[in-house]
Amino acid sequence: MNERVAVIGAGTMGRGIAQVAAQAGHPVLLYDPYPQALQQALSAIGDDLRKAARGGRLSGPVEEVLGRLQTTGELERCAEAEWVIEAAPEVLELKQELLGQLSQLNPSNLLATNTSTLSVTAIASKVKNPERVMGMHFFNPAQRMRLVEVIPGLRTAPEVTQRALELARSWGKEPVQVADMPGFLVNRVARPFYGEALRLHGEGIAKEHIDWVLRGLGFPMGPFELMDLIGLDVNLAASRSVYEGFFAEPRYRPHPLQAQRVAAGMLGRKTGAGWYTYPPGPPSPPQAPQADLEQAPTALIVGPHPLAQALRQHYRHTEDLAQADFVLDCRVKLERKEALAEDLPVVTLVWGHSASALAPGYGNRPVAGFSLVPPLSKGSTAEVYAPLSGSNPAVELAKRYFRAHGHPVLELPDQPGGVGFRILALLINEAVSAVAEGLATPSDLDRAMRLGTGYPRGPLEWAEAIWLKPVLRALESLHSELGEDRYRPHPLLRRMVAAGIGSFTDVGKDPTGAENLATHGGHS
Ligand code: NAD
Repeated sequence: MNERVAVIGAGTMGRGIAQVAAQAGHPVLLYDPYPQALQQALSAIGDDLRKAARGGRLSGPVEEVLGRLQTTGELERCAEAEWVIEAAPEVLELKQELLGQLSQLNPSNLLATNTSTLSVTAIASKVKNPERVMGMHFFNPAQRMRLVEVIPGLRTAPEVTQRALELARSWGKEPVQVADMPGFLVNRVARPFYGEALRLHGEGIAKEHIDWVLRGLGFPMGPFELMDLIGLDVNLAASRSVYEGFFAEPRYRPHPLQAQRVAAGMLGRKTGAGWYTYPPGPPSPPQAPQADLEQAPTALIVGPHPLAQALRQHYRHTEDLAQADFVLDCRVKLERKEALAEDLPVVTLVWGHSASALAPGYGNRPVAGFSLVPPLSKGSTAEVYAPLSGSNPAVELAKRYFRAHGHPVLELPDQPGGVGFRILALLINEAVSAVAEGLATPSDLDRAMRLGTGYPRGPLEWAEAIWLKPVLRALESLHSELGEDRYRPHPLLRRMVAAGIGSFTDVGKDPTGAENLATHGGHS
């Protein structure tokens, strides 16, 4: 017979987890101290199952699944189950009390917590036999999202972690083993998606433009529309908890613009206003223009990396300086961007530096900044930057060039990095730090980010595709121009570039001693 599963807390997450367990054939006991919460949960589960049956996503009859589901207001009854999954409110003392009490009643059942921000180790510390406690972090809605982060605490027995991974797999989930550190994996690695977007907005870039650029990169939603969906309060609480969990690490510092909206009660869709007002909600991104290569000026494209290669492969260009209308300089390092002999206008990549910082290096000719992030598609927004000295013919050339190739073009206030690349580079840097700290293996990390957030690519595979070296050089330059610690490249990125390693799958094979990467979970 299938193991019995008890779920503690019948709210948003508890009811979803109970439904998944019942659908997988387990007898399920759902506990909540509030009878109304239990009633609501049962009716929501029934509705969802009927919807699944209508959509052909349920193998057996709805009644059969519901028949496996019981509710209770007595916590003690939950101790009889082989598995307890706790989804009570996010309060450390409450979770410690609930699991502590159950652990006294049954010394051997397995106890999982669905906490999203608290330390599994701290929760387990009040449990009798803490080696049987682990985190099982489901994503909302639990009945649909396939990712589950399985998080052993410091004292969790390895076989318990294995059993949790197997349980999740038997429920049709894709579990990923993650170390017990603040934010676990997905909530931590995703921080720059919001944090850097808020930074850029604070530096004068319109939120709509940031959302459009990120959608153009293949993200299902831009950061501001996503914060509105999640709830600005929930998102701020996650940022705060990671920031505090890492003892005020500057990379995670929450942004005052977000705190201000929360203080105003503008929490997003649920309050009718957040970053946008509902209705009508966020404005739609502009249509991509029709490509018209006849209108494209001819570029001399400079630079070795995949962006330059992609542009050379598909965009109007020449190898002959005498034939070129302008230079499209894709090099990243300031020192490399030396002027070419002719007095042509320059459109220069801003991944590491602002157009204003780059312009003087080219002498007296017109200079504009640009950014585009590979892999390029028709939806990719071309970002164009005029230096602080003002607009000039290079800005117009850049806009004409990218429009003629079918890209939506946005002229944005000058800043280093570009919108899309700066956010992506910080996501990559965060992912590298997570790998270096042994939070998860590189392939698990990418899988978790794709499944948990809907990112079009994992940050590490994305870094490999655009090459680690330009990402490192850009971060170094961002660090120098912006002067803040949050941009410092992770030492593992430096080491990989220094060692000529371009793929994270090769990291474990590194003869320089990175052997243990992603296999240890303990930290001091
Ligand atoms: P919720 O507020 O929707 O549900 C909490 C439930 O717990 C309610 O039904 C409430 O009646 C019940 N409850 C209150 N006091 C209780 C007690 N003493 N004992 C047992 N149950 C009690 O919250 P939620 O969103 O389902 O979150 C539950 C847990 O899951 C939290 O730890 C949260 O951090 C985590 N989580 C939430 C999400 C999400 O997106 N909502 C995602 C992943 C993890």
